[in-house]
Amino acid sequence: MSSPPRTRFAPSPTGHLHVGNAYSALCCQRWAEEHRAELLLRIEDIDHTRCRPIYEQTIIEDLRWLGIQWHGPVLRQSEHMPLFQQALKRLHAQGLIYPCFCTRKTIQQEVAQMASAPHSQHGAPYPGICRHIPEREASRRMRNTPFAWRLHAERVCAALPPELTWIDGQGRHHPATLEHDLVIGRKDIGISYHLAVVIDDARQGISDVIRGRDLRAHTGIHRILQYLLGLPSPRYHHHPLLQDTHGTRLAKRKSSTELRALRLAGVSPLRLRDFLLHECNGVWPFHSVAEAVQTLGKG
Ligand code: GLU
Repeated sequence: MSSPPRTRFAPSPTGHLHVGNAYSALCCQRWAEEHRAELLLRIEDIDHTRCRPIYEQTIIEDLRWLGIQWHGPVLRQSEHMPLFQQALKRLHAQGLIYPCFCTRKTIQQEVAQMASAPHSQHGAPYPGICRHIPEREASRRMRNTPFAWRLHAERVCAALPPELTWIDGQGRHHPATLEHDLVIGRKDIGISYHLAVVIDDARQGISDVIRGRDLRAHTGIHRILQYLLGLPSPRYHHHPLLQDTHGTRLAKRKSSTELRALRLAGVSPLRLRDFLLHECNGVWPFHSVAEAVQTLGKG
């Protein structure tokens, strides 16, 4: 018997969940129900500079309150950092990444000098300052200077098959390309979201990733890392983002959109679910918790 499809909701505990995150969790749950799939919960807490245990606790409380149920134990990314380090070692041994000692300032100055440097969706291109540092010198500097790991775009592209693609929920293929020497091991935390997410999706046997459209632009990078690390590639479904009445994407830390605030004000979670999934048309129309309580009711 083949195993059921599997998806996951993967919040980062950098703040309280807002209604946009709730919408995303509901999309994951709806997809799982429609496809008799398992829904897993993963806490993406590798960024110790921004993540806080208190947020993890409220995320779990808020999701339970909203009626999201997940399969099996909660996975915390921070609990298996050595796995991510091993992947970096492997890419380094293949010559596909290199240490970068640049500060933000050095890069900005260099980029400013490159008058008409093309910018992509991943920001200004890295001007390649550390790309050619000889191995021995790089090893010496790594002992006493903080560094990031960057993908060597030219070598990576040479290692990829000519038409590498990622596949969406409708089975359509999209090209996976890499234009710049992207950071995949951050200076401050040693690894990056891109690396951790592909390793954990594979480790957890995720067949379908359901996530917001804001992450669509990263999917090509994820596909490339999967190829380089010999990992399977899930199908990717990107849902629209919930917006406010000005058409701006809902951001964290606005108390009127916090799930916790709605929960503490006594809003009915059932009404909230219905409203987000079937009535709001992608727009969160309330400017305060009181307004939300008034329309959605308590319960
Ligand atoms: N942790 C990411 C976030 O909260 C989601 C990662 C993903 O779904 O791939 O935005």
